[in-house]
Amino acid sequence: MKTKGFIGLGIMGFSMAGHISKVHPTFVYNRSHSKSHHWTDTYTGNVAESPEDLGISCEEIFICVGDDDDVREVIAGNKGLINTMQPGGIIVDHTTTSAVLSFEMHQLCLKKGVHYLDAPVSGGQAGADNGALTVMVGGDKIAYEQVTETINLYAKFSKLMGPSGSGQLTKMVNQICIAGLVQGLAEGINFSEKAGLDTKDVIEVISKGAAQSWQMENRWETMSLGDYAHGFAVDHMRKDLKIAIEEAEKKGADIEITKLIDGFYKDIQDLGGNRWDTSSLLKRLQRHD
Ligand code: NAP
Repeated sequence: MKTKGFIGLGIMGFSMAGHISKVHPTFVYNRSHSKSHHWTDTYTGNVAESPEDLGISCEEIFICVGDDDDVREVIAGNKGLINTMQPGGIIVDHTTTSAVLSFEMHQLCLKKGVHYLDAPVSGGQAGADNGALTVMVGGDKIAYEQVTETINLYAKFSKLMGPSGSGQLTKMVNQICIAGLVQGLAEGINFSEKAGLDTKDVIEVISKGAAQSWQMENRWETMSLGDYAHGFAVDHMRKDLKIAIEEAEKKGADIEITKLIDGFYKDIQDLGGNRWDTSSLLKRLQRHD
């Protein structure tokens, strides 16, 4: 079994790396060391001193850090992967970033004969924990085929969407589709409560019809309880929406609702909800209650 590397042991990466470690010898690296040690207390594997250190031991390295700058740092920083990875190596980046960053990393890696696949994920913390993520990939087909088996350890579905950047563009579509939908669900629950209905009954009925969605199925109850500790943080969503809004402007695509909801998420940050999950749009509607 080949040794695999994983960088970024946050909400998503922690269990993604865990799934890999059940099949392959695994080296992990995280910026704050406490998470690496928590990971080795939970799973079997080794902690690397730096990304550079990982690049010495592993041909295939998976990344799930926060944003563009984090990816730049782990690949191209002083102690970056690119210093040590050998030609033929593959980097699979699960971070949600701009398509510009994907192309920049792809070009940089190509110079060393290393493949860079942009491979953002969907499915949230539960998807990562249960090995049921969806992965949208941009980059080289042969490299993608080489890593598919490992991706399948934590994904229920993955697909190569096209050349470098295509995975991130697909993820932007995903976030554009979700933003308005979550607001709709928040407004529905808020309305139901103000109308004196039993929201549980309402959801039971309407989830059997055209209003049904993943967000409704997985989030209505926690939203009703004011429980916003379910993975995808508002800060990350604002990062994603900024990327989508910038890309939409370049492409001349109108995303009016997405821009509006981005402003609503800013309100949530102003309420101190940076790490609340994205369903906290309901909390914003209830802020004056
Ligand atoms: P997170 O909990 O903030 O985890 C990010 C991890 O990356 C942290 O452990 C952080 O370490 C580490 N990190 C950041 N910069 C680093 C660096 N330079 N070197 C090494 N480690 C570094 O975020 P997450 O929720 O797992 O999300 C990760 C990515 O997946 C984001 O791009 C997000 O948009 C995307 N995503 C998330 C979800 C979700 O439901 N959470 C769903 C789909 C996609 P520290 O401990 O030092 O902060």
